[in-house]
Amino acid sequence: MKFVKSKRLLIVAALLLVAGIFFFFGIKSLIPKKDIPRKPETNSAVFYDVFEALVGYKLVAEVWIETKEDYQKLTVMLRDQTSIDMDKEQQWDKELLYWNKLPSWLKEQGAKQRMDLTDSGLSVEVTFPESQAYFVYVPRTDMGFLGWLTANKVTPHTVPKYDWRPIIIWVVPSLLLIAVIAGGTWWMVTRGPLGGAMRGFGKKEKREGIERPKERFSDVAGMEEIIREVNFIVKFFKKPYILKRLGGKPKKGVLLSGPPGVGKTLLARAIAGEANVNFFPITGSEFVEMFVGVGASRIRDLFSTAKKFAPAIIFIDEVDSLGKRQAGLGDSAGQEYRQTLNQLLAEMDGFDSLSGILVIFASNFPELIDPALRRKGRIDSEIKIPLPSLAGRKAILTVHLRNQTKGNVLDTDVDIDKLANKTYNFSGADIANFANEAVFVAAKKEKDKISKVDFDEAFDIIVLGLAGKPVGDLEERGKTAIAEAGHALVARLLPALQKLPIQVASILRRADSMGLVQLIQEGDMRSVTKEELEAQICFCFGHRVAEQIVYGVISSGASTDLGNATRIAHDMVRKYGMSELGPIVVSEETSETTRRDCDMAAMKILAACEKRTEDLLRANERILRGLADALVLKEELRVQEVDDLIRLLQSEAA
Ligand code: ADP
Ligand code: MG
Repeated sequence: MKFVKSKRLLIVAALLLVAGIFFFFGIKSLIPKKDIPRKPETNSAVFYDVFEALVGYKLVAEVWIETKEDYQKLTVMLRDQTSIDMDKEQQWDKELLYWNKLPSWLKEQGAKQRMDLTDSGLSVEVTFPESQAYFVYVPRTDMGFLGWLTANKVTPHTVPKYDWRPIIIWVVPSLLLIAVIAGGTWWMVTRGPLGGAMRGFGKKEKREGIERPKERFSDVAGMEEIIREVNFIVKFFKKPYILKRLGGKPKKGVLLSGPPGVGKTLLARAIAGEANVNFFPITGSEFVEMFVGVGASRIRDLFSTAKKFAPAIIFIDEVDSLGKRQAGLGDSAGQEYRQTLNQLLAEMDGFDSLSGILVIFASNFPELIDPALRRKGRIDSEIKIPLPSLAGRKAILTVHLRNQTKGNVLDTDVDIDKLANKTYNFSGADIANFANEAVFVAAKKEKDKISKVDFDEAFDIIVLGLAGKPVGDLEERGKTAIAEAGHALVARLLPALQKLPIQVASILRRADSMGLVQLIQEGDMRSVTKEELEAQICFCFGHRVAEQIVYGVISSGASTDLGNATRIAHDMVRKYGMSELGPIVVSEETSETTRRDCDMAAMKILAACEKRTEDLLRANERILRGLADALVLKEELRVQEVDDLIRLLQSEAA
């Protein structure tokens, strides 16, 4: 047995030697014989405008120019140290575009900068850690380009075209050989006789999964209090003696909970980024479809690797999918969950709070997390992240538009306060999406600034969805228009709905509707009165009632509206104590009779609202029809247009 093993190793070594010889000759034939300084090899790319700025500021020492089919690849060697003198005037008129890029790029590269204000402007001394090489793609250059380089103290070299034949003759076969050897070795390691020993060996060296997140607290906007709290957790995690003095212990597990898109994952990454420790992210759902035992062993590996790289933060995202109560699951899936969860529980118990491991969990559904995981010593505290407030939304918008602000591409009519005001109930992710969409909208029009109209369009796309042509022939459209006019008229005539203006009334087809009237809420979260809830129910009935008045029929189109109306009515009765039953809240303990009474009370509210809607629309039937005609004609009306029309039709009637 022993003999077999070493014999195989011998063969592998011999093959490697042969491959090595091939490789050596291949590479040797590639080295250019002419006497030009050797081109540095680099994988770091820079964009052309950064390159232009670097040359402009005389930070480049040499370039190597390689000609490809229809472009050129430049390898750029920076000077070790230099200083940039910036003349204020010059900066503003011609260099503005690329000067914007340079400081942030320099910072990214870890370059040291020292700034001195001089009389004429600014002198920035730049020191790179070591001379650095980058590559950049440029279009085919002409003689002027070389002149520009030399004028900026750059030495250009032309790299001769390689003869590719040696590669084919020498390097390709050697690579193939190496691949065969590697494959064979891999086979032996995983399945063959060398199995056991090598496998354990391979694993220990595995560093897969470690990250050093670049996110910082400054990327997480609008949660100052939460960040302050989290900061303490991190501080005590890194300096446990502060707590120890008082007889305390750092937390081992922290849960970030809240609706999707509020920045839980972002915050977790920023925590690791700020703490400057190793980060091991893993997502609960990754375990869901695994075979029995695999989830548990990954958890074990995760913790044991993290311990080796302590201080470290383990991040288990979507932990609910792992800790979910799996009672209903079939045998093998249920078993897998239990094993994985049990392993996680064991690992949480199996390390000391001083061992330099912090586990951060995140979940959109904290109530689904297994209770065993929520005990002290496992999840020690829960930090709830709500949807952002008005101020928070403003801060998040500001963060996501910071590049645009810096680059001066926001038009003067863009008012971040107003935008924040509009984004009621948006999560951080929605806001990021909104900002992106606006940029996209402006880019589609090839504008060089993003203005208010682009944000308006982006808002429509995000809130309403993309609009298509109206559905059906003229008659069909007329029906849709009556229904939507019904909604719109209720929305504009009931005083209690004035706080929810119409975003748009439309008969354009969208993903899930033939037309719509979208109310929008603005500003900060607030409580809602009984009056307003009733008015909202009337708004829902607008569709059905209008159809009934004009066509004498009821269609299926109003079903979503009815659902909404019913839900509001039930909430009024059961949650807010806003019915004839008075101040009760329905809970698990509520008796069957009370529940029945609640249903009755909700029905009464619905009936009263329907009656009220009917009275309102009958009294204004002419306006209803007029509004519908306008919708058929124009397909989409904004709140201002709706109001103008109503006023016009009212004055005609008088
Ligand atoms: P969650 O994990 O809570 O579902 P994420 O952290 O994945 O949310 O957020 C998605 C994206 O939304 C982030 O990458 C970021 O661009 C944006 N975002 C969410 N919250 C914020 C915030 N508070 N500040 C800045 N950006 C945010
Ligand atoms: Mg997330």
